Amino acid sequence: MSNKQNLLIVISGPSGVGKGTVVDMLLKRLPSAVLSVSCTTRAPREGEKNGKSYFFVSRQTFLKMIDEGGFLEYSNHFENYYGTPRFFVEDKLKTGDVILEIDVDGAKHVREQYPQALLLMITPPSREELVRRLKKRGTEDEALIEHRLERADYEMSNSRFYDYTVINDDLDQTVEEILKIIENRRFGKK
Ligand code: ADP
Ligand code: 5GP
Repeated sequence: MSNKQNLLIVISGPSGVGKGTVVDMLLKRLPSAVLSVSCTTRAPREGEKNGKSYFFVSRQTFLKMIDEGGFLEYSNHFENYYGTPRFFVEDKLKTGDVILEIDVDGAKHVREQYPQALLLMITPPSREELVRRLKKRGTEDEALIEHRLERADYEMSNSRFYDYTVINDDLDQTVEEILKIIENRRFGKK
């Protein structure tokens, strides 16, 4: 009998590093994995659909959910709240892997509640490349890009709390490296 186990996989890294792109590719390769859809009070970007990228909720709704214990973790940055719905994660872990794409503060809270969680930090090959990717995505103005870069330094300075740091240089290689880490953990090799 195999000792295959479902994993709670946390993916963090600075905005623009490629988390969303990498997670989309991981989901295609891990058929039983699902991405937890977070709640946020920030406005949707062009093309973002409610219930797919995020559940876009009002501040009032978010605060009510906090009171009711509805979040596994939540944090507040860029003047907005972001949180992981508790029920979704607990329910989905019964049948497969759950991926959380969350920030460093959230990851620390997850670790406290799920010591077995696999924490992965994705970093850019250089700061210049991170700026290039943020600009390429074209969803933020200059001031917000500056703000996100400041936050990027904070995120990356916390990489020691993570099980692995993966540099997202070549996209395909990054995905292969992460898949290897996941399978090693699943079968208890590391
Ligand atoms: P995040 O979710 O971390 O904010 P995105 O997935 O939105 O980042 O990626 C930001 C931009 O960088 C996108 O335009 C994406 O296509 C690009 N990108 C992602 N990974 C790579 C890579 N390895 N090399 C070059 N560009 C990349
Ligand atoms: P963005 O606004 O670019 O979608 O996300 C901004 C930051 O919020 C990213 O670092 C992302 O990982 C983080 N984030 C998204 N969802 C959650 C969540 O549910 N909890 C926490 N703590 N951070 C989140």
